[in-house]
Order: sequence, then C-alpha cells, then structure tokens
Amino acid sequence: MLSLTGFRSQTDGLKNSSTKMPALFIGHGNPMNAIEDNSFSNAWKKTAEQLPKPTAILCISAHWQTKGTFVTAMEKPRTIHDFGGFPKELFDKQYPARGAVALAKETAKLVHHTQVGLDEEWGLDHGTWSVLAQMYPLADVPVYQLSLDYTQPPAWHYSLARELSVLRNKGVLIVGSGNIVHNLELVNWNGGAYDWAVEFDQTAMRLINNHDHEALIHYDRLGEAARLSIPTNEHYLPLLYTLALQDKTELHSFFAEETVMGSVSMRSLKIG
Ligand code: ZN
Repeated sequence: MLSLTGFRSQTDGLKNSSTKMPALFIGHGNPMNAIEDNSFSNAWKKTAEQLPKPTAILCISAHWQTKGTFVTAMEKPRTIHDFGGFPKELFDKQYPARGAVALAKETAKLVHHTQVGLDEEWGLDHGTWSVLAQMYPLADVPVYQLSLDYTQPPAWHYSLARELSVLRNKGVLIVGSGNIVHNLELVNWNGGAYDWAVEFDQTAMRLINNHDHEALIHYDRLGEAARLSIPTNEHYLPLLYTLALQDKTELHSFFAEETVMGSVSMRSLKIG
C-alpha cells in the first residue's frame, strides 16, 4: 500500500489545506427533498453551513452504477433527472455546478485499487444534485462523481474508498449518497416504519458507533432485517465509502435519523 507521502507526490496540483475536511453519508430518499423545505433538507443545509467551504465535492451516488470505475471529468456536468412520475418543478430544476476536471484526473491517478476511467457522458444524477441543491444552493462549488462498479463485492468498495481519504486533506468534501435501509418494493406511503427497517437502522447505528466496519461490510451476515433492508446494495454501498474514510480515533455524528415510507432510512452521518 502506498504511503500518504506517495499519494501527495501524485497530487501536487492540489493545495494541501491545514484542516481535514469532514466526510458525509447522506440518506437522500425521495427526490422531492431537492425542492422541499422539510426536516431532511433543513438538516442537510445546517450540516453544510457548519462545514468549511470545500474546494470541490466528490459524490458517490447510488444512482451511478457502471462496469468498472469512473469519475466524471467534464467542465459542465448536466443535471440528470433520473426518475419518473414527479412534478414538472422537479424536472425543471437545474444544478449548474462546474465540474472538477483536474481533480477527477488526480483522483483517477491516486487510486491503485483499480483502474479509474475518465467519463465525459454522465453528469450529476439526482443522488448528487437533490442533496447539493439544498446544501450548496448557489452551486458555487465544483462537483464530480465516482461511479459504483456493480460487479464488485462490498469489501472491494471499502478498500477503494480508503484510497480517497487523501482528498480530505485537499479540502475535498466526499459525500456518499444513498440510504441505509432502502426497499422500494415494500414502500408504505401512509404507514409507519416496518419493524425490520427500524431494527436494521438501529443495528447499523450501533455498529457505526462501535467502529465495527467489518460487520457492516458483511451485512449479508446480519440476518433477516438486513436482507429486507438491502434487497439490492447500490443505496447501501455509498455508506461504506464514507465509513472507509474514518480514522480510528475520528469522531462521528448522525443527523436526519428518521425512517420514512415504511422502508427508507434517512439516517445521515458526518465523519470528522
Ligand atoms: Zn436513490
């Protein structure tokens, strides 16, 4: 494994900042959170207000899955409306943040776990912009995304994410965007949270508090509540990216902890 010094020598184009940027996992939930004034969007806003202003934002979104790993490397990423059945107001919403081409290239270079390709087609999907539109409404921070390689197991993603940690010293805010509990098949619009959803959300919270990342990586061993909460893991994997950035002694805190629509946990996490 490369030393931190090794990484630094390859990221000379980026300034080192004196403080380490916190890292976030955000439970994004319903795309309407992008334009609604509610407890979640308020918690996201408040969190952003308490952070140092990032030099750029790297988002790992549940909604960009690829074969192989890519970073977006375009000057002007488009706003992707990757959903259906929502009001025109949401489809009209644009998030005109600039891309971060130089940083994307640096990120591709510093990852040795796998080859990271440069992508000029994607843009910002709603896992990214629905959250950032509330956190940074002026869209004045450059944004780029890293894709999720759907062919790889959770432990592989965790290892890759550890290599991204050096970016925190460059003022880059790394945001995993998904949901710890996410079962749309069983969404219950009018009812309360399912027992299994609450159970797994609480289990995840406890394991995060115990720094037991190993158990969270191997969530398939956590029983029926985990199986129902993670029917497919694209919304869960971004959590592992954020956890992998946590140093052993680093503190964390939770925000927006509610479980909504029966089967979607909005629990969000700040490292550092
Ligand atoms: Zn989603």
